[in-house]
Amino acid sequence: MAILFENALVVTLEKQKPILEGQQLVVDQGMIAAMGNRIKTERFEINERIDCSGMIVMPGLINAHSHLTEILQRSLRDNVRMEIWRGYRVLTEEMANLCPEEIGAAAELACAEMLKNGVTAVVDHFSTSPGLSVAKMRAILTAFEKTGIRGVIAPSLRDQDFVQMLASRSPRRKLSKSKSDGSWQEEVVAVLDHLRKSSKIAALVIGPSSPLNCSDSLLQEAITMAEKYDVGIHTHLLETRLQRWAARKLYREGLGMRLKRLGFLSPRLSAAHGVWLDEREMDLMASSSASVVHNPASNLKLGSGIAPVIELKRRGVNVALGTDGGDTSDSYSIFEQMRLAAFLSRVTTENSDRWITALDALKMGTQNGAQAILPWRGKIGRIKTGYRADLLILRPNLRLHPLNDVVHQLVFCEGGQSVDTVLVDGEVVVRGGRLTRVDEEAIIRKVEPISKKMQRYYERIKERSNRATSTIQRLYQRAFKDERGPFDELRVTG
Ligand SMILES: [Zn+2]
Repeated sequence: MAILFENALVVTLEKQKPILEGQQLVVDQGMIAAMGNRIKTERFEINERIDCSGMIVMPGLINAHSHLTEILQRSLRDNVRMEIWRGYRVLTEEMANLCPEEIGAAAELACAEMLKNGVTAVVDHFSTSPGLSVAKMRAILTAFEKTGIRGVIAPSLRDQDFVQMLASRSPRRKLSKSKSDGSWQEEVVAVLDHLRKSSKIAALVIGPSSPLNCSDSLLQEAITMAEKYDVGIHTHLLETRLQRWAARKLYREGLGMRLKRLGFLSPRLSAAHGVWLDEREMDLMASSSASVVHNPASNLKLGSGIAPVIELKRRGVNVALGTDGGDTSDSYSIFEQMRLAAFLSRVTTENSDRWITALDALKMGTQNGAQAILPWRGKIGRIKTGYRADLLILRPNLRLHPLNDVVHQLVFCEGGQSVDTVLVDGEVVVRGGRLTRVDEEAIIRKVEPISKKMQRYYERIKERSNRATSTIQRLYQRAFKDERGPFDELRVTG
């Protein structure tokens, strides 16, 4: 039961030959079994031939950081900073008190959008208020299985609140009292057991929300469990100026040194954002072989800043791409993140030799994403014999014509409109631009009333005078005074 692709223009992203023309490619048992100009196909039981003349075959895109259920609150807010945005998001979620079916429907919609736009693998840093449960986590895993996307769930853990600590009179004393009760571990083990028995395309990594919202004991528990079960760790790291400021206020040794002391920095770790990493912390990320997941759209929308991607790259840090949630970046498109990553690098350094090229950006959206997430490392992200068959066939739309330079145009022209066929683990999950496993219209119909309900709750809370919001605004004023950013000279105050 194999598929033979013929006359394929293959995007390999290898340095010497990033593009190969006239290729034959065999996908067998979920794997890329053979590729070349002329391969011996007799040894395979070919039951489907796909003529790829005039098409582009490329690795599936990898969304290494997102929040799927945030699609329900898509585009509800504008002009708010991250911590204020989060307050509204959590309050709205608490009022809605989503059940597993509603969570599953939201995740299916996000997965459907991603697959149709060429994303074949996603990390869902999953949080929901009030609280996680095995049933809710399984609803996310079911959405992966139903739609056919390769998915990793990173259940979000937290046991302290850095904003509350900062707002208190003695933040460090408050910090010393914070300690995990360990209650999360049983649920995560139950999900791990379920996954080991039942899934080829879904996996779990441990997901401390952010080191600022986790006590030392919780981070230690996360490390111990990751080592015991040999799984990855995923977190948010220094996303905003307020977090940078908080880290200096709360941890005398510095946040980077705290994480190093705890053993948190390791090749298991993928850290989202990293906008406010300082030089020393970037060195620590490099020396510990941890990865950073760049989320340019979300960072721009929330005014968080621009991540130091060129500096990280110069140090050899693996940088992947993520979309973050459906509310903070409004889409789950990795084509969009690749373009933004390339563009933004051009305003962060004057030296054009160091800008992120189209080839760099395409690697960030594919092989770097695989490298960042432990269960995917060495298995996906490339079109290469022995890798799992997660790949896209693009039928070039008008934005790709004339096709002068495939790699450049995939980053600077393409937006997902050309995605015709998508394979995940060797299975066709999008054909002719349509999802093969699920009914897109039915998912939309299921999600609509849930989203409307949340919109109503949000309308109720947004006008209320909110003490937490004014506290965050006050703290930001202090952070702006103390923490200088690279683009502060452009800032107009008042
Ligand atoms: Zn996030």
